[in-house]
Amino acid sequence: MRPRPTTPYDHQRLALLALLRERGISDTAVLQAIDTVPREHFVQAFMRNRAYDDTALPIDDRQTISQPHTVAIMTQSLMVRPGAKILEIGTGSGYQAAILAQMGARVISIERHPRLSQQARQRLQDLGYSVECRVGDGTIGYSGQAPYDGIIVTAGAPDVPEPLARQLVVGGHLVVPVGDHQQQTLYRVTRTDHDAWTANELGPAAFVPLIGVEGWDE
Ligand code: SAM
Repeated sequence: MRPRPTTPYDHQRLALLALLRERGISDTAVLQAIDTVPREHFVQAFMRNRAYDDTALPIDDRQTISQPHTVAIMTQSLMVRPGAKILEIGTGSGYQAAILAQMGARVISIERHPRLSQQARQRLQDLGYSVECRVGDGTIGYSGQAPYDGIIVTAGAPDVPEPLARQLVVGGHLVVPVGDHQQQTLYRVTRTDHDAWTANELGPAAFVPLIGVEGWDE
């Protein structure tokens, strides 16, 4: 566990953690990761005073850093164990990847915007997180490191991308928002056998669109 120095954001961070607990986040590893990863480094400098609001915030290329409650629900639902190999689709700011790395996962993260990927790579490196940041269309996954113990999609898909479901280990989970361009439902899809999957609904979400071969058209 990476020790955290005192910061001007301590009060706001503790208030956010209390809110997440109230809203049903109970996994202590997830709460500890949110307590440790400095979200203020992942938002635009002029928005740092809002870093611990429970809200999505704008980043470059008209994208967003996700709402902390959504990050918490999705991470809790992935059931990450230290050493697990996790593929993230939609690196964005790199915050979700840092949460997973903080929990001891080995993280590979794909982003379609090269500038965002480069910024996230630098930020994660500066903070001491080892994450493999790749540029490309994450809707087809990344067969180079498959299979994965978990896959997390942090953009809204029209349907569950089949290549991702097929890149899970048996027993692995894929957490993905599925719906339209404005509103989605979060699903956890579990691979139960070579050709069998089950799905659970986790609740509503509002992500930017997943654009790609197995997602929306640009
Ligand atoms: N996980 C991010 C974070 O922690 O900041 C937030 C992700 S943001 C809500 C969604 C991201 O998905 C955007 O950066 C967007 O460019 C990216 N994206 C959309 N379609 C993609 C695709 N096919 N492959 C990879 N990234 C994609």
